Amino acid sequence: MSTKKFLLQEKDIPTAWYNIAADMKNKPLPILNPKTKEPLHAEDLYPLFAEELARQEMNQTDAWIEIPEEVRDMYKIWRPTPLVRAYGLEKALDTPAHIYFKNESVSPVGSHKLNSAIAQAYFCKKQGVTNITTETGAGQWGAALSFAAKAFGLELAVYMVKVSYHQKPYRRSIMQSYGAEVIASPSMSTRAGRDIITKHPNYQGSLGTAISEAVELAMQTPNCKYTLGSVLNHVMLHQTVIGLEAEKQMEMAGEYPDIVIGCFGGGSNFSGISFPFLRHKLNEGKDIRIIAAEPASCPKLTRGQFQYDFGDEAGYTPLIPMYTLGHNFAPANIHAGGLRYHGAGSIVSQLKKDNLMEAVDIKQLDTFNAALLFAKTEGIIPAPESSHAIAAAINEALVCKEEGTQKTILFNLSGHGLIDMAAYDQYLSGDLSNHELSDDEIGKNLNELEHLI
Ligand SMILES: *Cc1c(COP(=O)(O)O)cnc(C)c1O
Repeated sequence: MSTKKFLLQEKDIPTAWYNIAADMKNKPLPILNPKTKEPLHAEDLYPLFAEELARQEMNQTDAWIEIPEEVRDMYKIWRPTPLVRAYGLEKALDTPAHIYFKNESVSPVGSHKLNSAIAQAYFCKKQGVTNITTETGAGQWGAALSFAAKAFGLELAVYMVKVSYHQKPYRRSIMQSYGAEVIASPSMSTRAGRDIITKHPNYQGSLGTAISEAVELAMQTPNCKYTLGSVLNHVMLHQTVIGLEAEKQMEMAGEYPDIVIGCFGGGSNFSGISFPFLRHKLNEGKDIRIIAAEPASCPKLTRGQFQYDFGDEAGYTPLIPMYTLGHNFAPANIHAGGLRYHGAGSIVSQLKKDNLMEAVDIKQLDTFNAALLFAKTEGIIPAPESSHAIAAAINEALVCKEEGTQKTILFNLSGHGLIDMAAYDQYLSGDLSNHELSDDEIGKNLNELEHLI
């Protein structure tokens, strides 16, 4: 009988995260102070982030960073996650390709985000921090951090974009179930929030405003730090447990992937699945294709520009060297698949610039088509975000069929979609369509960036 799932033991949970920056010939460019345009050092980030996380952010020399025992203990709740051979999907596609997926949807919060949330909460706690803050849009990061904060005895305040707070109540309930305080943003609890409410009493909030509120609260509260769920180098680092486990599991399956695929928002799950495999390409010249799958309505890697830009809409963060659509870019309202972030982190951007990876953009209706085929053949309703990776994997499998080649394809299932059924409802009732983004729309935002540096 053929094996469906490749399972590791708890003792196989990785003991170190993989820091790809150490192995990169062209290092990522430094992040800059937006006022002086000087490179930032780890110490400059200490007021905002836990010190160990700030050091991880800047580390370009150590390829391996030990995972503390306390973090590995927490990982045991759901790790190691299964590697699954998608026989059902292969059969439906009638492809000679072998398709595998790493199932990160089995975490208690339903996505990969807990891999970094646990690590970030741990390093805050270890430093004597008592309170943490963050912002959340749809709520996946907020949900993960709520459990992580509780696990390490930290108080968490989550600023949730007001429109999501009211329209997507279930992730709010999840955060509250874990004991987090969830505040609709803009709120009266910060100066940034009060200013906006005074000017626009009915403002429904944005991620930019929520970030300013979370940062302001962190800076003004003693023993309080701010946390972020993607984009930054230390988040990519923590997520490499995904690919490190997958590497061992592919060995159990007796195969090595020709193609590794992850969906791409800020880059954390993509980096997690792909960096450990990319290291064989960097260090041993292994022939392997690494593909980031992004939405056609938010195509920073395929149609953005490589340059310094702010990490957030409001322009509070350091300047980050990245492929970007401009920090003012907002995907069309019709877009329901997540992955709405305007840029890519500095490591991924450098890798893309050096042609060590590829990117593809996927149209909205193709992602939902792929999601339903996956659900019907493999039983798991995928997160709309993850469906971009599934669609890209299907495209590659169909090329194999056309060419009669038998490639091995590995993609990351970053999460399940059971709390995102509103997006499926929209699709099933025919309310979604593809959105064509014009060059003019992209150019308009990018032109505004020219004065930044
Ligand atoms: C947040 C999220 C993403 C996008 O974020 P990345 O940092 O690009 O991984 C993708 N999939 C799921 C399930 C998510 O929750």
